[in-house]
Amino acid sequence: MKHIYDYVIVGGGLAGASAVKGIRELDTVGSILMVGKENHMPYDRPPLSKDLWFGKKKVEDIFLNDRKFYDKHAVTLLLSAEVARVEPNSKTITTTYDVTYEYGKLLLATGCKALTLPIPGGDIEGICYFRTLDDFLRIRNIAAQGKSAVVVGGGFIGSELAAALNINKLHVTMIFPGALLCDRVFPDYLGRAMQQRYSEKGIRVMATDKPVSFSKNGATFITHTEKGKTIESDLLIVGVGVIPEMELAKGCGLEVGNGIVVNEYLETSRPDIYAAGDNSFFPYRVLGQMVRIEHWDHALNQGKWAGRNMAGAHEPYTYQPYFYSDLFEFGYEATGEVDSKLETFADWQKENDIGVIYYLHAGRVRGVMMCNLCDKLELARELIRKDEIIMPDKLRGLIR
Ligand SMILES: Cc1cc2nc3c(=O)[nH]c(=O)nc-3n(C[C@H](O)[C@H](O)[C@H](O)COP(=O)(O)OP(=O)(O)OC[C@H]3O[C@@H](n4cnc5c(N)ncnc54)[C@H](O)[C@@H]3O)c2cc1C
Repeated sequence: MKHIYDYVIVGGGLAGASAVKGIRELDTVGSILMVGKENHMPYDRPPLSKDLWFGKKKVEDIFLNDRKFYDKHAVTLLLSAEVARVEPNSKTITTTYDVTYEYGKLLLATGCKALTLPIPGGDIEGICYFRTLDDFLRIRNIAAQGKSAVVVGGGFIGSELAAALNINKLHVTMIFPGALLCDRVFPDYLGRAMQQRYSEKGIRVMATDKPVSFSKNGATFITHTEKGKTIESDLLIVGVGVIPEMELAKGCGLEVGNGIVVNEYLETSRPDIYAAGDNSFFPYRVLGQMVRIEHWDHALNQGKWAGRNMAGAHEPYTYQPYFYSDLFEFGYEATGEVDSKLETFADWQKENDIGVIYYLHAGRVRGVMMCNLCDKLELARELIRKDEIIMPDKLRGLIR
């Protein structure tokens, strides 16, 4: 039997689910197949390291759509199914179960996978390289009984999970090689203040150190660090970054770089194949450079955009995405190039707590982070779009 679909979406995450909405805005009848490796309907990942731990959301609240949505839009959902290869010449995909589907348009919305640590014991049973709902479900059960956790990684996933576990009354040790928390994004003054806050909350912060091996004694994990420390814990969670899922793209000869290369219409280097979300390396028009973005708002919008373009819209992706995070009482939204290597100017209403950080290059605002301030994104986006040389003290009071 031949399986033919007008649209095939590989990846049952946020970008994939948004693409369904994009397609259906323009094409209400074309057949859609979505293939997802996980055994869950598309869900939101941010609550996995935040709201689910604070009782603000239950697992059933994080699904992006209910089953009725997929039925209503006539989407065939193939879950727990992995696509093994794409054949652009015959316009087919084949799953690991060796079932082949023909597509009219194909979207690769395969996201990212967690990086693992290539050290002795780095693959020991029970270590959690945190990324999925199943990871959350597993460590939540251990956290409910356990007393201690080691969290490796001082970026956002590590920092959010460390806070979540601390709030859930576990003894948490954080280990990371950098000098300060979230040092790729936070300027050093904010990183220092945040690190102080973590220590005051009772988290043991081991900066400028890293694990060199892991082992296990019964159910207890043992972490050995470069500086000669040994830490025992009930939970061992690693959040040291992600890499884009590009195997399918590479396997069928698509151009790849720091992600699957797409043009402004989100088309890859082969006809009728698109990519969107965490895995796409795309031209960010306002910043004038190719980038890959691993954030929720980007996957939401680029996925939808790709869906519209697959259905014939032919619209360049001009959206300026934002991202957000919550670390204890400190929440922020940021947009543009928010890179701690740039020059920064901070306009605080309350130091290292409420205010705005501007990220500048050659006198121009490239990125803006709004700390504990809501609904200011449009002002920030406009400032970046203007691309004018501005003296830092003229920025004071611009966004309040
Ligand atoms: C714990 C956590 C917290 C986060 N918090 C925030 C936050 O606070 N703010 C923010 O802006 N962003 C946050 N993010 C990032 C945000 O969730 C991602 O940017 C977003 O999920 C990307 O969506 P995506 O659809 O591109 O990829 P994904 O959500 O990764 O979905 C891709 C899906 O494709 C599947 N897949 C891959 N290969 C195949 C294949 N060959 N066959 C079939 N299926 C395949 C994967 O299994 C996966 O389910 C967080 C991420 C995590 C993990």
